[in-house]
Amino acid sequence: MTFEELYDIAKNKLNPRKLSKESYAGSVAAAILSEKGNVYAGVCIDTPSSMGFCAEHAAIAAMITAGENRIVKMIAVYKDGTIIPPCGRCREFIKQIHEDNQKCEVMVRKDTVATIDDLLPFQWK
Ligand SMILES: [Zn+2]
Repeated sequence: MTFEELYDIAKNKLNPRKLSKESYAGSVAAAILSEKGNVYAGVCIDTPSSMGFCAEHAAIAAMITAGENRIVKMIAVYKDGTIIPPCGRCREFIKQIHEDNQKCEVMVRKDTVATIDDLLPFQWK
């Protein structure tokens, strides 16, 4: 599966909307290609008091719910179609759920792919 295909899957999951007076969702969507060739997607949930989470986090939760934890490729797309890199928390999260996820390829902007190892070169442990 190409990054272009993953991009289209993520883009189709975008659905920016208000959930309640103070909470929003769907302005970022992420798609993961797993080691077994499955695709998992998720959208961000933005709530007050830091209780929400990123689209990458939501896609990882779907992948783990399905019994997988090794990511081969990942992409996240903002509501305007821009490819955005994972935040620091998501980079660490990706790395912590499988040792080989350091080799996971992430499209960080159009035509630029980096591994999690590139994005987090020095382990804290
Ligand atoms: Zn994040």
